Amino acid sequence: MIRIANYINGQYQAPLTNSYIPNYNPSDGAIYGDIPDSDASDVQAAYKAAETAFPEWSTSTLEERSKIMLRIAELLDENLQKFAEAESKDNGKPVSLAKVVDIPRAASNFRFFGNAITQFSSESHESTGLNAVNFTLRQPIGVVGCISPWNLPLYLFTWKIAPAIAAGNCVVAKPSEVTPMTAYLLGEICTQAGLPEGVLNIVHGLGGSTGQAITEHPKIKAISFTGGTATGAHIARIAAPMFKKLSLELGGKNPNIIFADCDYDDMLQTTVRSSFANQGQICLCGSRIFVEASIYEKFKTDFVEKVNALKVGHPSKEDTNIGALVSKSHLEKVKSYIDIAKSENGKVLAGGEEVTVDGFENGYYLAPTVIEVSSDECRVNQEEIFGPVVTIMPFTSEDEVLQMANKVKYGLSATLWTNNLKRTMRMSQSLQAGIVWVNTWMMRDLRTPFGGVKESGVGREGGFEALRFFTEPKNVCIKY
Ligand code: NAD
Repeated sequence: MIRIANYINGQYQAPLTNSYIPNYNPSDGAIYGDIPDSDASDVQAAYKAAETAFPEWSTSTLEERSKIMLRIAELLDENLQKFAEAESKDNGKPVSLAKVVDIPRAASNFRFFGNAITQFSSESHESTGLNAVNFTLRQPIGVVGCISPWNLPLYLFTWKIAPAIAAGNCVVAKPSEVTPMTAYLLGEICTQAGLPEGVLNIVHGLGGSTGQAITEHPKIKAISFTGGTATGAHIARIAAPMFKKLSLELGGKNPNIIFADCDYDDMLQTTVRSSFANQGQICLCGSRIFVEASIYEKFKTDFVEKVNALKVGHPSKEDTNIGALVSKSHLEKVKSYIDIAKSENGKVLAGGEEVTVDGFENGYYLAPTVIEVSSDECRVNQEEIFGPVVTIMPFTSEDEVLQMANKVKYGLSATLWTNNLKRTMRMSQSLQAGIVWVNTWMMRDLRTPFGGVKESGVGREGGFEALRFFTEPKNVCIKY
């Protein structure tokens, strides 16, 4: 049993509540540790540490901050295996995936923002004829709150923390209670890298108590949140009357639009990945696949064959493509959508069933599932399932597919497969999404703005957008 602790003021500390919640291993369904069930008193202790650290950290040189952040990145690289195994055990994702995606990206987040802060600049305006010059001071906000989900635990946790501290803020952060382990391990790395006490404080616990206390804290001036749309709306309701700065990265139901003129093999291979990577538990997964009618039957046959060849297995096995879903309750939710699909005349072409993995019979495994739907308006096509379930249906014209693609409440990302340049531009302009990938999926350049429109979120992370979020612009006007 592993008991984890909060990381406050550079020290691991038991929660003041002295209360704990169990932590499950999704690959075998067993409890393997427990985590602090922190409340507002723990959040207050974290806030105090952050507040105390702020004057010195916010006035430290960019070189000092950058050096520490680059060292954190190096230490994450050096501890790749340990972190990847911890992530896999907590989340159910294949260790092989955590080794090439989650942990390297967490290191990149620190490396990227450690470098970006040295290049961050602000505008100045010479007011000619008025003998005045205006410039913008970009000052750190103070103590900020970062709240993250379970699907890409350390990857998304550090995607917020890194720009926040690079910009000179001090942080009270909460990882998901479902996947707290790598955030716990990060504390030790930060101490080793020389991050001053109190700059980063990590408080573990449930959303309704710990997360709520961070959101409600009167002196935590900004909240950067990634998670479900309903939680985002709840946080916005609390934060708005307190006039907090808010960045919300929320749910998605992303279209994957395939035209007959695409590079077929590349499309097919990538579509398997964009459907089922991380057990389909990535907010960017293309869970609604629309295929031009002329290649629909061929695609259906080839896709189903490839999906059936994916190996569902224990996350530690090298040949596993699909690991376990994150929790029992999530498995039940995803399964319920397969039943909903059937009741709406959806045809299950692949998967649709739980999988029993030998020796791990209590794990949360589900076969990658492809459902052919006859209407884009059915629930499985409209609601976020966030698991290894995709729908497919044909389309006949660009206008028709554009309408269907946009006819959901979400607008996070869209993928487009075509070699027609004019269509690429038309569709990119008209798709209601924060990110459009053309002939690729989840190719990330950390300088680009990242976020969604409609109910997929408010604001943008990434690059200078994140540094802008975590700073307050102040106009200084000097008359000379
Ligand atoms: P969730 O909303 O249940 O939880 C996210 C985080 O918020 C957790 O740390 C949770 O403890 C906390 N939380 C819950 N209630 C809270 C409250 N009342 N106050 C403050 N914090 C609270 O989401 P989840 O199930 O962990 O993650 C899955 C969701 O995240 C999906 O909808 C997915 O699309 C979304 N997501 C979005 C992005 C993106 O970049 N847009 C990325 C990954 C995941």
